[in-house]
Amino acid sequence: MKNILVIYTGGTIGMVKDTKSGALRPFDMKKIYEVLPILRKLDCNIDTFQFDPIIDSSDMNAKVWLSLAKKIKQEYDNYDGFVILHGTDTMSYTASCLSFLLENLNKPVIITGSQLPLGMIRTDGRDNIISSIEIASNNSVLIPEVCIFFGNKLFRGNRTTKLNAEYFEAFYSGNYPSLAKVGINISYKQHLISSCQNKSLKVYDNLCQDVVIVKVCPTIQESFLSAIINIPNLKGIVLETYGSGNAPTNDYFLCSIEKAIKKGITVMNVTQCKAGSVEMGHYEASCGLMNLGVISGKDITTEAALTKMMFVLGNYKDKKEQIEKLKENLRGEISI
Ligand code: ASP
Repeated sequence: MKNILVIYTGGTIGMVKDTKSGALRPFDMKKIYEVLPILRKLDCNIDTFQFDPIIDSSDMNAKVWLSLAKKIKQEYDNYDGFVILHGTDTMSYTASCLSFLLENLNKPVIITGSQLPLGMIRTDGRDNIISSIEIASNNSVLIPEVCIFFGNKLFRGNRTTKLNAEYFEAFYSGNYPSLAKVGINISYKQHLISSCQNKSLKVYDNLCQDVVIVKVCPTIQESFLSAIINIPNLKGIVLETYGSGNAPTNDYFLCSIEKAIKKGITVMNVTQCKAGSVEMGHYEASCGLMNLGVISGKDITTEAALTKMMFVLGNYKDKKEQIEKLKENLRGEISI
């Protein structure tokens, strides 16, 4: 029998109705079998761990990501798989960050949550938890990746983005197909799932927090860029550009980016589009950025770009090596 650790960080999924007041409140993870007795029918042992405090995922931050990675490191030999219950708002950031922090992962780490609290009749949380645990404890298909399970689909976590605040199919992976679909059966797409590494797990314990996302928009002005570039200690900018990596071509914009790069700030170009890739040099509007040494994020999501920068700038000291790592496909986050 497989052993699965369910880690509860917070979010909508964990809300149940107080039997006396009827109000929604976070549930006690130790009572998971009381809340979901059907879990006893799964062919695995389930242990639980609850973060203290549990948080709305809007409060997610680098410290919690490092604690999550540390917890997985501590429990790695005791369990066959991990299921993390998490709010949906920043789930894609967490999945992306964990994928970078956990190198040579040979066990499934599946993050799930819900749009409706577990304590509500039509909750999607029930199915999401059950399927996530079933996938994490599968005896024939091993998924050695950090994934998100949501809306009957298993995704590579660092390829996802939250797309819908209303419907149960909340997550989208525009540049990489889902790894499995749940219907009457669970159909796995083996050729899309990473293969196991013949190396032991390496868990990193550093993240650089001095990184921002700057979204290019028609009102962008020199003074805005200048304020950002002058943020003390800023180390990295994820520049969300239009389409295939295009940005304003006027002098002030390019000069500002040049100033940033000269100050030692690493700049990565990612697209605002939910699918497709940055192709610097395709239009004149991206040639300038390319010539200044802006790194192409290719088809990376903004969530993965931010956390990749946090990871690379936090764990590699040499500038040349940082740039190489940012260009490299580290955990399946970009298509080569
Ligand atoms: N605000 C909640 C959170 O992200 C929403 C959710 O769980 O879906 O924690």
